[in-house]
Amino acid sequence: MKYEIFISQKPYDGREIEEIKGIPVIKPIQIHENNVAFVGRSINRRPKADALITDSKNFWIGVLTADCLPVFLIGEGVVGIVHAGWRGTLKGITFNAVKYVSKFSSIKKAILGVSICGNCYEVGNDVFSLFPGEYSNCFRKTESGKYLFDLKEANRIQLRAAGVYEIEEINKCTVCNNDLFYSYRKEKTDKRILSAIRII
Ligand SMILES: [Zn+2]
Repeated sequence: MKYEIFISQKPYDGREIEEIKGIPVIKPIQIHENNVAFVGRSINRRPKADALITDSKNFWIGVLTADCLPVFLIGEGVVGIVHAGWRGTLKGITFNAVKYVSKFSSIKKAILGVSICGNCYEVGNDVFSLFPGEYSNCFRKTESGKYLFDLKEANRIQLRAAGVYEIEEINKCTVCNNDLFYSYRKEKTDKRILSAIRII
C-alpha cells in the first residue's frame, strides 16, 4: 500500500496547518490517554483520542507534539497515527492502536517519528517507578539520581508485543535538533510539530 508522511519543521506551527497539498488534516483532541478513534470517509468533528486510524484517502490524520513521540502505523488499506508521551505510553496507547486495527486489518510497519531522545529526556523517580519491569531497559540512571528515558524504545516494546516487527525510525530529536523542531522542554513553547500520514 502506498502512503505518504509529513512532518512540519520550524518556523511553521503545526497547530495552524489545516491542510497539506490541498488535502485536509484531521487532528484529534489529545488527552494523554489510551483511546483510539477511527475516522471514516467523511468527518467533521475532532475525536478526543491520542491515536487515529483511517482507511480513507480523503484526508491526512495527524498529531501535534513537542517532545512526545508520534508513531506512524502502516497496514493493509489502513494507516494510523499515535501521540505517545510518557503518560500515554504508560497506558499502552501504541499497543492499543495496533490491536484496534487487528479487529479488521493488520499493521505491517511502524515509523517512530521526531521526539525527544533517550539522552535528552530526563525524568524523576516519580515517572520511573510507575513503569513495570518490562520497561527497565528504557531507563538509565544519572549521577544526580534522575533517569534518562528512551521513549522510542518503550514504544518499540509495545509494537513488538502487538506483533509489529518492521520498525523504522526518524533519527531526529526535538532537543538535539532544536533548530528544526519545537521542544516544550527546551523552549516552553506552545508551538507544535505536526506529524501526519495519508493513504495515496
Ligand atoms: Zn536529544
